[in-house]
Amino acid sequence: MDLSTVTRVIAAHQRSDLDVLGPTVVPLAGGSELFADPRADLTGLVDLQAFGWTALTITDQGLEIGATCTLAELSRLPRQAGWAAHPLFYQCCTALFGSFKVWNVATVGGNLATSLPAGPMTTLAVALDSDLLVWRGDGSDDVVPARDFVTGNMTNMLAPGDVLRSIHVPLASLNAQTAFRKIALSPLGRSGAVLAGRLDADGLFVLTVTAATLRPVQLRYPELPTAEVLAGDIAAIDCWFTDAHGAADWRRAMGVLLGDEIRAELAGGQS
Ligand SMILES: Cc1cc2nc3c(=O)[nH]c(=O)nc-3n(C[C@H](O)[C@H](O)[C@H](O)COP(=O)(O)OP(=O)(O)OC[C@H]3O[C@@H](n4cnc5c(N)ncnc54)[C@H](O)[C@@H]3O)c2cc1C
Repeated sequence: MDLSTVTRVIAAHQRSDLDVLGPTVVPLAGGSELFADPRADLTGLVDLQAFGWTALTITDQGLEIGATCTLAELSRLPRQAGWAAHPLFYQCCTALFGSFKVWNVATVGGNLATSLPAGPMTTLAVALDSDLLVWRGDGSDDVVPARDFVTGNMTNMLAPGDVLRSIHVPLASLNAQTAFRKIALSPLGRSGAVLAGRLDADGLFVLTVTAATLRPVQLRYPELPTAEVLAGDIAAIDCWFTDAHGAADWRRAMGVLLGDEIRAELAGGQS
């Protein structure tokens, strides 16, 4: 849809081009969310794609994902030796149902910044204990743990003028075993619940619950918990919510069920 109140689109080539950002001038990434609804509050956009940030950089410490990396690019991430968590990238990319057009423009940063409960890049970043590099509007840099970034349904830690620059995924998480479950009310519908489990080499078990809760919830255990403990902890989560994509009680029930499946899968099928 046309944003008829927008009178200027600035291509960002250097960080100072972001100085114009504020309540009515916002970053533009893929535009799949920005151009989906009327935004009469906006007067300008700053196109982040013009920075030409590298999409994916593999280092000795892990993986750097440029905020403007598209879901299509991320889905083609080449597997590296030892990266047991590699399937989680494709699983999370395909948890966003849109046409090939959406997949080819929607960016990792745009998905995190939109901060829908069903944001699959939030699932991915939180499940892998990623850190987010935020360029603050005052010129400073901030590193925010992904698990703290999304604070509610379409709310996050970004202030007007801030830009999410990149996502750092640590090597230890990339080397971990992962398991993934997603459910929606219809085959192509938005996710009602998306859960990702991670079992680290040292036995740490991390379960991330998204889409069913207003914000991502992470449960952490030094070793695999019993089925009873995990079910109790999932049921006790306090931010299940109801919308067109599922009722809160159904989401809680699915959370318990899918969490148990993940626990069993990572336990090697033992219950
Ligand atoms: C058919 C369809 C299906 C969809 N399904 C889903 C779904 O299942 N789950 C889901 O979460 N979303 C879904 N979306 C919404 C949207 O496509 C995604 O959230 C997408 O990832 C947004 O990325 P983008 O690059 O297009 O963001 P844009 O539309 O460019 O921007 C979205 C918002 O984020 C801000 N922003 C973008 N990049 C940054 C940055 N680096 N730093 C700071 N702010 C930034 C923008 O200012 C804007 O407010 C869907 C959209 C469509 C059209």
